Amino acid sequence: MMKITTAATKELVGVYQAGSQHMVGDGFPVRNIIPGAGADEQFSPFLLLDYMGPAHFPPTDRQLGVGEHPHRGFETVTIMYQGRVAHRDSTGSGGVIGPGDVQWMTAASGIVHEELHEKEFARRGGTVEGIQLWVNLPKSFKMSKPRYQTLVKNEIPAVDLDGGAGQLRVIAGEFRGVHGPAKTFSPVHLYDLRLKAGHQAELTLPEGFNTSVFVLHGQVVINGSEAAKEAELALFGHKGERVILEAKEDATILVLSGEPIREPIARYGPFVMNTQDELVQAANDYQAGKMGHL
Ligand code: MN
Repeated sequence: MMKITTAATKELVGVYQAGSQHMVGDGFPVRNIIPGAGADEQFSPFLLLDYMGPAHFPPTDRQLGVGEHPHRGFETVTIMYQGRVAHRDSTGSGGVIGPGDVQWMTAASGIVHEELHEKEFARRGGTVEGIQLWVNLPKSFKMSKPRYQTLVKNEIPAVDLDGGAGQLRVIAGEFRGVHGPAKTFSPVHLYDLRLKAGHQAELTLPEGFNTSVFVLHGQVVINGSEAAKEAELALFGHKGERVILEAKEDATILVLSGEPIREPIARYGPFVMNTQDELVQAANDYQAGKMGHL
């Protein structure tokens, strides 16, 4: 007799709205959704998700953005949808990311960088839209060497969904045997999903991982029940593997699923460590110039 197994559907814990907009530096109006929507343990290894824009900037000769600042103990992942951002850091790395590109920066033991609207983009003016995601590092990697990955649009594999439902780009982890280019320190699946109105996508994500979907555009019905719309995040429970998303309107969705890092978290601004003492050390090291300068 043939045994048919159907993966259980993940329980929808809730749908959360992003907070009100605030400015990061003078160039990035953002709405926060992680950790705003809940506690660290519900999202680990994801520490922060800020949705930048979409916001239009008139032409200017000034490069707006965030000037020199440090990070230690985690990774910053910047996903661009519209506009162009230039960055420079204390390891001597730098570059420009535009629509479809991802910058995966491992701050680890410490990095100092700036994030600005790219010069030519600023001069012409235009819309900035992106996500900044912070991914925690396991204790054993917090003080490792900084690393930088630029993942340009055509290096990120795109999987066409059945029946012309849309497309899923694998930034990190795996989808139906297709692997994303990002190297991560703990297991993470990160997808840029575009779903067409009236179509659905079925995802299989590991039991026990912290899993959520963030809707940038459109309206999406989750597991046949609640809807999530623009700037809303649906959070799932640990049991089951299946997530069913149905677009009511053309939708742009970020799918996040990661194995929780079950270690203490101590945060202070741009530093995320395991203890208060390590935070004091981070601030001292930055002041002493040990994270370098631009
Ligand atoms: Mn930064």
